[in-house]
Amino acid sequence: MFAVAAQTGSTRPALVDVPEPVEPAAGEVLCRTLELGVCGTDREILHSARPWTPVGEDRLILGHECLARIESVGPGVADCRPGDLVVPVVRRALACQSRRVDMLPFGAFVERGIVRQHGFSQPLWIDRPDYLFGVPSPIADLAVLTEPLAVSEKGVNEALLLTRARLGADAWSAGSPPRVLITGMGPIAFTAVLASLVRGWPGTMLGRDEPSSFRARLVEQLGGKYQSFAASESINDIERDGFDLLLECTGSDAVLLQASTLVRSCGAIVWLGSNRVPQPAMHNVDRLVRDGLLRNHLHVGCVNAAPRDFGDALTHLGQLASDRRRELTALITARVRPDESLWHFENRQPQGIKTVVVYP
Ligand code: BGC
Repeated sequence: MFAVAAQTGSTRPALVDVPEPVEPAAGEVLCRTLELGVCGTDREILHSARPWTPVGEDRLILGHECLARIESVGPGVADCRPGDLVVPVVRRALACQSRRVDMLPFGAFVERGIVRQHGFSQPLWIDRPDYLFGVPSPIADLAVLTEPLAVSEKGVNEALLLTRARLGADAWSAGSPPRVLITGMGPIAFTAVLASLVRGWPGTMLGRDEPSSFRARLVEQLGGKYQSFAASESINDIERDGFDLLLECTGSDAVLLQASTLVRSCGAIVWLGSNRVPQPAMHNVDRLVRDGLLRNHLHVGCVNAAPRDFGDALTHLGQLASDRRRELTALITARVRPDESLWHFENRQPQGIKTVVVYP
């Protein structure tokens, strides 16, 4: 059985042989990976040459965006059956916690395929039903997008919750939806567009592509707007034409500084992207502070996703599929076999959005 691994001291992905799991024990299920999304986090783990391996090991099996099928269930498992399609959550608490799992500090959790627990690029793996969400069969072909969509759903849900706590329960409601600005053109930026549009919130993506590019056109086909950085103008009347929610998906401090100037009073700025190894840079953050202060901005750091957000992602994929299935499918810009996948773990295709590894 082969899996894709990151190894300590190497920046290259390796195809490694892994033992087949034994039969599931009581309370466990055996799952088979059907589709696996390749993500920027996988590339960053490799690039760092220092994966967070399981304790005592020198490699981490990658893969955290997964559609799987239950192969068999151990004794005492009543809520899922062989043949069920599932998506696994990434993060798991190390001990029983009162805090939501996505809010735990580093050290209090593992993340499959990212932090100290092997991921889903192995064809077969053992899990517990608590960590699996059932996938309705009409969205089976899109469900590999659940995890990256859940990350954006969290950003949007947190911003909504906090804004209503500050401005009142009718803030950002159907009559006055927030205007959303999304920076970046990678998979998280696209799922941020989806999470906005499915709520009926107008979304504008700000990116570096020409407006005629495949990705820029896809944003518009999905129902969003596209604006290129090069052509972007400053907004004269910020309170009239500015944005209420910035979903920052590039991890670039320069982009954050520039885009934050476009956020009007009481707007929320959600950080969904970052560099794993931050580079020293000199930026003047005076403007960010001044705008943030005078406009009562809210900055929200945002990682992982709550069970709430996985549920929303599955529901929203179903809703979006009813009239935008073709455009959603277009987000998957490459489908490759496991033995062809290594290149994608290291590189991005020009105009690529999401590479999915399809298991035989
Ligand atoms: C994953 C999250 C995870 C984060 C940090 C992201 O790529 O989607 O689930 O919490 O990386 O490890």
